Amino acid sequence: MPATPHYDIVVIGSGPAGATTARYAAERGLSVLLVDKRQELGAPVQCSGAVSRHALEEVGIPLEAEFIHEAIFGFGIYNQAGEQKKIDYRLLKPEEYGPEAPKKPLGYVVDRRRFDRYLMTMAERAGVEVWLKTEGLGYRPQPDGSCRVYLRRFNEEIELSAKVLVGADGLQSQVGKWAGLRTHMKITELASCLQFVVDHVETDGLLEIITGHEWAPGGYAWVFPKGYGYAEIGLGVIRTMADDGQSAQEYLDKFIRQSFFKERFADCRVLEIQGGGVPLAAPLRQQFADNLILVGDAARHVNPITGGGIHTALSGGRIAGGFLAGLVDEGRAATEAELEGYQQSWLDELGTKMWKLYDTKTDIFRESDISVRDERLYATMSGYFSPDSEYKKI
Ligand SMILES: Cc1cc2nc3c(=O)[nH]c(=O)nc-3n(C[C@H](O)[C@H](O)[C@H](O)COP(=O)(O)OP(=O)(O)OC[C@H]3O[C@@H](n4cnc5c(N)ncnc54)[C@H](O)[C@@H]3O)c2cc1C
Repeated sequence: MPATPHYDIVVIGSGPAGATTARYAAERGLSVLLVDKRQELGAPVQCSGAVSRHALEEVGIPLEAEFIHEAIFGFGIYNQAGEQKKIDYRLLKPEEYGPEAPKKPLGYVVDRRRFDRYLMTMAERAGVEVWLKTEGLGYRPQPDGSCRVYLRRFNEEIELSAKVLVGADGLQSQVGKWAGLRTHMKITELASCLQFVVDHVETDGLLEIITGHEWAPGGYAWVFPKGYGYAEIGLGVIRTMADDGQSAQEYLDKFIRQSFFKERFADCRVLEIQGGGVPLAAPLRQQFADNLILVGDAARHVNPITGGGIHTALSGGRIAGGFLAGLVDEGRAATEAELEGYQQSWLDELGTKMWKLYDTKTDIFRESDISVRDERLYATMSGYFSPDSEYKKI
């Protein structure tokens, strides 16, 4: 019988978290297989694509026009009545941020189809083997310290051996469940998100964020520029906080037709409809098991205030890939006890701040007086995006 193929690392899921984990591990000389069940990465799009420049630079992603829809220079934060706090870095820090070289923008709205493909290609160039249309089915730790990984590639079932399996399989992660990790999420912490890609909406290089229970209970609405006169209008709501059980679609229709932006949106046409779930939840308390770690949405590495998860997926991937390279280099076993070191590195660098954000968010939404809650969310969002925010790097 032919020997079972062996890799140091098998990564399930080639989103920002998986592709970055794979690349960092391969750059350090590990043999890495990256698989994704999709035949086209990033599609169907379930993301608005807003990400800071710092997030890309931190993990060595070149600022390529190939995946950038539009440059971002700041934020417009609105309360329910439409009062705006404008945080435009072109005005606040003109020496640093601006459209003319050598100044660079604060961030970007990226095209997730092209972005995810770009990240996968970067991983491949670093030596990662990539299999698309390949679904992870299960894993089993072995007495010799390795694990078996079960995949379906096109229609063929395949068994591999690996030292560590990385679950980077997103919000609905199955990989964590295979290991018996407690991945259950409370319905009260899952935002239902819906966005329309539209034309005929003027934008000015700002990410606009609209707070207020009336427009988006438990979350917020947004207007993001998408380049060439296109924009994304969307929102995320916590269904258990919605009035009369209204859906995200009903809230989005109301926001477009009845909010203080109704005249601005009057001529827009809906060109695409995108949606998905976002965990406004705490990171998983345990993100590791024998021969296994989780990263990105699978580990709930998502900012619980903004719902942003691209930056944290990229950073988490860098931390995971670097940690696994150290583990393999030093010949340490991939036991649960050793892999706890990954979670500890993540907590030291990022996780503790994310827990703090989670506590802030929980505190806001525990407030029973809706107008007080709205005011606090508006103030927190405005503070979060301001130049002196302690969370600038998340
Ligand atoms: C509507 C919406 C808007 C958003 N907007 C933003 C935003 O503007 N900015 C931001 O920072 N974040 C945003 N997010 C969140 C962001 O999209 C996620 O946090 C981010 O994609 C997480 O990356 P990831 O790599 O962990 O997971 P994902 O990007 O979800 O990638 C997981 C991958 O795993 C693959 N997979 C799953 N199961 C298997 C399996 N069994 N076998 C093989 N492959 C598998 C999937 O096909 C997928 O490619 C938004 C989310 C939504 C829903």
